[in-house]
Amino acid sequence: MSAANFIDNATVTRTVQDILPKTTFSEKMVRRGVENTASLWQHQDGDAQAFHDFCVANYCKNETDKQLLFERFCRNFEIIMGYNNRLNIELRKPLDVQGFAPTPIDSYFASYDALAHLHEDMYSSKLAFIITLNFPFYTLREKNNNGHNWSDLLWGYVRLGDLFTSRVPAQALQKINEATTAAEKYIANYNIYMGMVWSDENRQYWGPDQTLLAHWGLRDELKAAYSDKQFGLDKQIILYNIMKRIVNQTILKDVIDKDEYIWFPSTNQVFISTIEIEESEQEENIRYQYLLDVFKAVKAADKYYPKYPTFIDRTFDAEYEITAQEAEQIFAELLSSPMVKKVAALISKRLGRKLEPHDIWYNGFKTRTDIPQSELDAKVRAKYPTKLAFEQDLPNIMNKLGFSARTAKFVCDRVTVEPAVGSGHALEAMMKNDHVMLRTRFGKNGLDYKGYNIGIHEFGHNVEQILSLHNVPNYFLAGVPNIACTEALAFTFQHKDLELLGVTPADELTKYFNTLDIFWNSYEIMGVALVDMKVWQWLYNNPNTTADDLKYAVLRIAKEVWNQYYAPVFGVKDEIILAVYSHMIEAPLYLASYPLGHLIDFQLEHYYEGKNIGTEVERIYSQGRLTPKLWMKRAVGREISALPLIEATTLAMEKVNAYDKQVAKQKKQAAKKK
Ligand SMILES: [Zn+2]
Repeated sequence: MSAANFIDNATVTRTVQDILPKTTFSEKMVRRGVENTASLWQHQDGDAQAFHDFCVANYCKNETDKQLLFERFCRNFEIIMGYNNRLNIELRKPLDVQGFAPTPIDSYFASYDALAHLHEDMYSSKLAFIITLNFPFYTLREKNNNGHNWSDLLWGYVRLGDLFTSRVPAQALQKINEATTAAEKYIANYNIYMGMVWSDENRQYWGPDQTLLAHWGLRDELKAAYSDKQFGLDKQIILYNIMKRIVNQTILKDVIDKDEYIWFPSTNQVFISTIEIEESEQEENIRYQYLLDVFKAVKAADKYYPKYPTFIDRTFDAEYEITAQEAEQIFAELLSSPMVKKVAALISKRLGRKLEPHDIWYNGFKTRTDIPQSELDAKVRAKYPTKLAFEQDLPNIMNKLGFSARTAKFVCDRVTVEPAVGSGHALEAMMKNDHVMLRTRFGKNGLDYKGYNIGIHEFGHNVEQILSLHNVPNYFLAGVPNIACTEALAFTFQHKDLELLGVTPADELTKYFNTLDIFWNSYEIMGVALVDMKVWQWLYNNPNTTADDLKYAVLRIAKEVWNQYYAPVFGVKDEIILAVYSHMIEAPLYLASYPLGHLIDFQLEHYYEGKNIGTEVERIYSQGRLTPKLWMKRAVGREISALPLIEATTLAMEKVNAYDKQVAKQKKQAAKKK
């Protein structure tokens, strides 16, 4: 039974009328809370009379009552979340930190979650209903339109109200989990044995042991081929053909995760030595069947989300807190910017040829430091021979970045450094009496450059974690609006790593090349994200589709996006490559978070230029978890937008062109002298 109609309108009205004489809150406010609670109340919670009595008994009498209730929720949730978080950190430790002998139970404990059923427990104990009744839900539009006038306390109330907006039965969650896990498994085994892939000219470019996972491995190999002056383009054309066969599903089942046949991707022929195999089957629509299964499982749960009735709403409005329409508008700003053609012309000039569609993955703007790795390793080892040396230097690092001594001490007193098993990570604290964890790799002689570089990145996370827990107005405002906001600070720190070591960074053009790299990456990933989003809109308009029809819809949408934003730049129509990302199948609608992240990161890092980072970071990360739109507006004076990146790209193009001209002139003069 759908939750929405278990409590009828007459009960809601009668309940509101009976609360009003006992409270100072307005009828509008009371109705909002009662309707909110009715939308989530199910038969197992009690009948209509039980609903009425519960609401009348638990509605706050006045503002003072409500604030006291809120503060108690802050205290108790901090206890629950904070200690559980610490419990998880400790249970995972044998896997995450060096020095533990392995036992077979480690991974079981690592995936154990004492709060796995917290959501439903809160409903069955009725605590969730006290929240839905007194701290009702506000939509993203309401938050964005009115949030700038809300007090910190009101914002806290609204964030508390965000906690309980759905009531999905375990069985529906299980179905979603099964469909997603099946899709993940399908993608995880999508290996192409490159040793068996031949070019039209019977060339083999890859060794017998080289396998590439679609699409990541194929794309990264395509990017790496830019540095192969002799065969790079040949390789890229082969890789591109493989990708297209994955998207249109003409790929043969026998070449996926199998190394039996020699395969010519351009003609799709397979051979054993010189004998052609005729009966090899194509995938047809398997890829899209997995996507359709995920859609069906997700859609079946729609009715349990009265506030966010579609998966698109849940991902964009609830999770990213940027609507799909807003995201599309932001992407369109960059995709249709005149700068695209200008940057494309520069790439074409640098490659010395006309652009091919696969040049959406051009990576030649990436700059690397020209200081040898060994020199950097030696420098870092001398400075940080032990974990303790690194830990003790953290306040200095903050001082160099412009933080006050007081803030540096406050933060560093709450950071614990540990040697990581993997490459490194930062773990947040969820209660104020806990520490955050900075983990990176320490060798026998202390840190090497890689460990240091990662350590600085993680330390950026730690600083965010402390500021956004301790300095925010109340517990329900702890944190940042989304992952991009914490990653941005981690990258800001990481990009300063050489400067902090006292090494002069590479030439001044580095910054401009980086901007061009971010711009071109954003241009690529925004198109990919748009295809993903439009496919989901199509699915919701055609819920009874088949895997075959879905395939043709994906191909049509991929071509439409290509023809609108890429064909005018590349001079070729109807390419389908924007649908190649595996995320589309196993993690739908995730792709949009990449370009949104790029833009937020760029806006923040760009904003710090010429300012005291410490002061700005402390101000920005103490705001509390508003919506991304309001948070960014208060952080940098501008909403999330592609314009700062476009403006910076315009400047970068001027600088790089001027530099190129100068180099050409010098070459000419040198030639004359000869
Ligand atoms: Zn990070």
